[in-house]
Amino acid sequence: MAHGGGARQVKLDRESELRIEVGNDAPLKLRLLNGTAEIFGTELPPDFWLTFPPRLKFAVFTWNGATIEMDGSTETDYTADETPNISYVNVHAVLEERRHRAKPLPPDDPNSQGPRVIVVGPTDSGKSTLSKMLLSWAAKKGWKPTFVDLDIGQGAITIPGCIAATPIEMPIDPVEGIPLDIPLVYFYGHTTPSNNVDLYKVLVKELAQVVERQISGNAESRASGMVINTMGWIEGQGYELLLHAIDTFNANVVLVLGQEKLWSMIRNVLKNKPGVDVVKLQKSGGVVSRNAKFRQKSRSHRIREYFYGLANDLSPHSNIANFSDFSVFRIGGGPQAPRSALPIGAEPAADPLRLAPVNINRDLLHTILAVSFAKEPDQIISSNVAGFVFVTDVDIQRKTITYLAPSAGELPSKYLIAGTVTWLET
Ligand code: ADP
Repeated sequence: MAHGGGARQVKLDRESELRIEVGNDAPLKLRLLNGTAEIFGTELPPDFWLTFPPRLKFAVFTWNGATIEMDGSTETDYTADETPNISYVNVHAVLEERRHRAKPLPPDDPNSQGPRVIVVGPTDSGKSTLSKMLLSWAAKKGWKPTFVDLDIGQGAITIPGCIAATPIEMPIDPVEGIPLDIPLVYFYGHTTPSNNVDLYKVLVKELAQVVERQISGNAESRASGMVINTMGWIEGQGYELLLHAIDTFNANVVLVLGQEKLWSMIRNVLKNKPGVDVVKLQKSGGVVSRNAKFRQKSRSHRIREYFYGLANDLSPHSNIANFSDFSVFRIGGGPQAPRSALPIGAEPAADPLRLAPVNINRDLLHTILAVSFAKEPDQIISSNVAGFVFVTDVDIQRKTITYLAPSAGELPSKYLIAGTVTWLET
């Protein structure tokens, strides 16, 4: 199954796929020799070599048969003729019908809103992959669905620790992923929601409101609807957060991947909510399980990609600033009121939404800070972020901070948000 390299051809029968994990050390080149094929919903251009980075896991699927040529080494590659793709494309067909029904209606008609799909399921059930397929198939038909990514662990839109939304105007590039030019990003600052569940909820609400505003004025976006990807945390508080997301975004199609129990729980909760469909879908046998170490690694790659580009094609800028140039804040944590102000015996509760100024010191070394669009500190929680910087040095004596930013020049704001997202530049 693993392959050491060299050019080779694979013939795929109709409705089958070639599942590939690119080797660890070198990229893999691949092209479509004949027939038609797609990668997670995006059609391959004929006779054009594509280069996939090390460790990428993906599948080349064909509806009608194809011949693929590969050059380079893989960790695994094998063909599979059992995939759930027919059931996925059937979902797409239903969504398509709803978009067509929504399109001609005036904006004040509630049915002018196209399908709002939310994809839920355990970790490694193929949620992000199904989201991409649905978005790419819709974009291919000329729709502009909004992709909302609520997964702070392995974000598909921007770096980990964020929730984000962006319109998808073209099928998603199988190598480059989602274009980063116009995303709407909120910085949560941690890669697990349990760090601050209240903050997560507040940010989901902010994001939903802004997305709502953006699409309400645009008939095409409105009819195209949304695809919302979620976290793999489905137990306890994670489950509550799923229900919160369904409610906050007014999702009307809930796709549950690979878990009967979750499907029946959500169906029971939503059975009194007319107009919400809860659909159970099979998980693909091709979805690769990723352990904690792999996840950590891919988070780190995501951050690297933000600064350096996928193919090392960006040149981030190292800048030096004075401590006084910035105000750094942390959200949540610290006690709300001093113990002396509380009734005897009462414990001070941590206020999850408290904005606490952070003293710049060496604790910030190797952390990722978000650059807020806020004009005043009290707008920080409700503001989206412009981008991120990476702290590479803190000089206490000189009171200067050295940081890496995607480009040279002044940051769009002096308000920075700290969390627990760190990176070891590799
Ligand atoms: P989730 O979002 O539920 O955590 P993903 O959609 O990210 O899961 O899938 C996990 C990994 O499996 C990803 O690296 C993805 O590219 C890969 N993958 C998904 N489906 C297939 C498939 N059919 N063949 C090969 N790899 C796949």
